[in-house]
Amino acid sequence: MARYVGPVCRLCRREGMKLFLKGERCYTEKCAIEKRNVPPGERGKGRKARLAGYGLQLREKQKVKRMYGVLENQFRRYFEAADRQRGITGETLLQLLERRLDSVVYRLGLATSRPQARQLVRHRHFLINGRRTDIPSYSVRAGDVVSVGVTSMKKLLIQHAMEEVKGRGIPEWLEFDSEKMSGRITSLPTREQINLPIQEQLIVELYSK
Ligand code: SF4
Repeated sequence: MARYVGPVCRLCRREGMKLFLKGERCYTEKCAIEKRNVPPGERGKGRKARLAGYGLQLREKQKVKRMYGVLENQFRRYFEAADRQRGITGETLLQLLERRLDSVVYRLGLATSRPQARQLVRHRHFLINGRRTDIPSYSVRAGDVVSVGVTSMKKLLIQHAMEEVKGRGIPEWLEFDSEKMSGRITSLPTREQINLPIQEQLIVELYSK
């Protein structure tokens, strides 16, 4: 599937906020948003304040898509699935995105970013309930156990990520055993537990036109 392969910091600058796509660099002063938070392009500065209505809704959708590394068609399918479920559509949409295996691996601190988590999942380093999986979009359920395969435990990238993200903390809906390199989904995340500055209602409005 086609993926954006250009400079990822440009995406953050386009959205005007950190999307945490580059791992440890995102938490340092080298982050492009820390240094120069203006949209890319010569007229970037002028573009910043003019957004309203459709433009605002579109940017919110793009921001979330980029944050979770999901392409347009897949994102729309997430929205449609959220819309079919009971509850508040925007919140369900975010919950479905958080339940992706690559996002859970990132949240457990086994990768420094979601793009890295996706790559590690693709390379078959993780098991769900003891079964190896290589599907980044796999949707976890409450009670599932995500663990690092025995042969992958020594993988430096994963060990380095665990060291790096010690200070970041694990969300309340997850449990992590660093000895076993294994995490459990204790419950599905609520909106309050998805601590991201997202106005999901704008995405619902965009797709409801
Ligand atoms: Fe975004 Fe990370 Fe680049 Fe900062 S360092 S602009 S958060 S990808």
